[in-house]
Amino acid sequence: MNIQWYPGHMTRTRRQMAVSLKQVDAVCEVVDARIPQVSRNPDMDEIAGNKPRILILNRTDLADPEATKQWAAFYRSKGYAVLTTDAKSGAGVAKFSAAVRTLLADKIEKWKEKGQTGRSVKVMVVGIPNVGKSTFINKVLGRKSAKAADKPGVTRGQQWFRVEGGLELLDTPGILWPKLDDERTGILLAVTGAVKDNILDVETLACKLMEILYHHAPELLTERYKFELPHEDEEIDFLGYELLMRAGRKRGFLISGGEIDTERMARILLDEYRGGKLGRITLETPDEYAEEQANG
Ligand code: GDP
Repeated sequence: MNIQWYPGHMTRTRRQMAVSLKQVDAVCEVVDARIPQVSRNPDMDEIAGNKPRILILNRTDLADPEATKQWAAFYRSKGYAVLTTDAKSGAGVAKFSAAVRTLLADKIEKWKEKGQTGRSVKVMVVGIPNVGKSTFINKVLGRKSAKAADKPGVTRGQQWFRVEGGLELLDTPGILWPKLDDERTGILLAVTGAVKDNILDVETLACKLMEILYHHAPELLTERYKFELPHEDEEIDFLGYELLMRAGRKRGFLISGGEIDTERMARILLDEYRGGKLGRITLETPDEYAEEQANG
């Protein structure tokens, strides 16, 4: 599926979400910890309005732990509650209920004053496709994937579920559009698998990924592919392509005439990065993001 976000679709999603938002006390935004800022919906702040927000840095099993700490601190400094999770294994998910209740402590206190002691906190989960929303919800609800009937949500097909610890969760996540209007975000979303590869051809994408990995984790790149990094005085026109060729040569991916099968190497690089085979690598840092904001 290649995601195309037509204006009509966005308008409909916004409208549905506005209805759902009225029913919740907090919004839980799931992002990919390898690209926390890029995997956020650009209009999220506007959509969520003043609702308290908890940000889930998911896929921490694939992200650099130090970078995840930096991102968590960054978002906390902006007033979000932050939880780091690996929804696939379930690591971190058990802290969700308590984190939401802490986030809403003042509100819960007011409910208590009004005698509403048993009132549960309602949360909806949102995020761009493929960041792990469903996996996260299933883990919070303690189920594999099948859903059981409970009371219906406001949008057709949505269900509210009670979670232990005074929490109710809307089981169908709000699916938001990613930002695809500049090359960098498109590439980062494609290399992490948030959007399909076909926004760029596979070799171009892999070349871009090589350059990003060269920048963020050169030692992990050489460890995996056993090639030499270019020396400082080497003149290279296309760094990503050069690295792809070096990796392909080491792996012995040759086609007739002794040429290197860079397309095969491209697919392998993308698969291996996505599967965490190169190690835990985060592709953007809070500093880079701040710099980009400063440069407009
Ligand atoms: P959604 O589109 O946001 O609901 O995403 P899904 O929950 O369907 O997850 C997309 C893919 O990412 C699935 O293959 C999940 O198994 C995988 N996934 C979700 N969370 C994690 C995580 O924390 N770590 C890893 N490694 N994979 C995850």
